[in-house]
Amino acid sequence: MTTGRLHSIETFGAVDGPGIRTVFFLQGCPARCVYCHNPDSWSTAGKEEISVEQVVHTAQRGRPYYGKDGGVTFSGGEPLLQGEFLIEAMEALSKEGISSILDTSGTWVDDFTKGAIEKSQMLLLDVKHPDEEKFKEITGVSQDNLLQVIDFANDENKPLWIRQVIVPGINDTEEDVKSLKAFVEQRVKNLYTIELLGYHNMAIEKWDKLGIPYKLRNVPPMDRGRLARLSQLL
Ligand code: SF4
Repeated sequence: MTTGRLHSIETFGAVDGPGIRTVFFLQGCPARCVYCHNPDSWSTAGKEEISVEQVVHTAQRGRPYYGKDGGVTFSGGEPLLQGEFLIEAMEALSKEGISSILDTSGTWVDDFTKGAIEKSQMLLLDVKHPDEEKFKEITGVSQDNLLQVIDFANDENKPLWIRQVIVPGINDTEEDVKSLKAFVEQRVKNLYTIELLGYHNMAIEKWDKLGIPYKLRNVPPMDRGRLARLSQLL
């Protein structure tokens, strides 16, 4: 059986999908987002290994709290980087009656991606920007994989919970939000919801510790009132 590379686990997660969830943050990400909250999750080397049995065992402990909506979320880093492990883990969880979802940036596609999406009850998909150029400026990678991930999800009629982090000066205008809405309307077949999240700069310390220059040092956290007004456009 394949093992996964683990960054961390959160029990009783309430913001990474519907209901109460056990969240497995997997290690490794191909993107380099300028505002990443977890730059320590980028490297594919090191960190802890986790087996499918350990995933199931840990997920079972949260079972009394899942109710009908909750379950397991695989997040990251970028979970699709470990597609083979995801498929095995989600199959094993499903046998135990625990549903799982992926929280992905859609920045990685390989031979296992379609299978992993098939097994996921829904996708939390972080669309960093609808515009190809700006997407690359934010993530450092091309938007092609994201479009393919959306196509795979559409093929399987998976509900998509679209998210975007709103950063002052990068994507915080009404135009930006309207173009996100238009992108989603045009591309996504089965939309669950669109959620805007406010940028905060609490990760600066992590970047400094890793010695990686943080480009947004002078960007203030997103104003909550403005975020609420932008959210109304959706
Ligand atoms: S996709 Fe997520 S984990 Fe990867 S760099 Fe971007 S914000 Fe960080």
